[in-house]
Amino acid sequence: MAQVHEGGCLCGALRYAVTGDPLRISVCHCTWCQRRTGSAFSVEALFADEQVTITGARGRYRSHSDESGRWLDLEFCPTCGVNIGFTLEKLPGHRMIDSGTFDDPGWISPERFEFRYVYLRSSQCWSRPPEGVEGFDTSVRT
Ligand SMILES: [Zn+2]
Ligand SMILES: [Zn+2]
Repeated sequence: MAQVHEGGCLCGALRYAVTGDPLRISVCHCTWCQRRTGSAFSVEALFADEQVTITGARGRYRSHSDESGRWLDLEFCPTCGVNIGFTLEKLPGHRMIDSGTFDDPGWISPERFEFRYVYLRSSQCWSRPPEGVEGFDTSVRT
């Protein structure tokens, strides 16, 4: 049976559970992710909607990609403000969960899943993929 992993915000008002493995992991260095996380990059786990159950109060904020103009909807706790992830116009029926919001964030690791280092063209000079790991200037071309 598929494993369930839970997570949520700092105050506990917004919780979620995911079933099974993420479809992919992006370590994204785009300027949008730097702004929304307040950090140098985000670690995003992509899931299909049906893998994810979200409970509790949810705030939403719609912003648009500098690159494509398409929308991205941030989902956050209205009480403590933690952003648990987002949905995006580019991938209907899917959602990104920020890996640091899992109760056990360590299960999202490069030993288990392929990490894709993307948007390195806007990365900070000290924030690069590990030695020998491929990175991409923008998104991954498939
Ligand atoms: Zn909260
Ligand atoms: Zn990004």
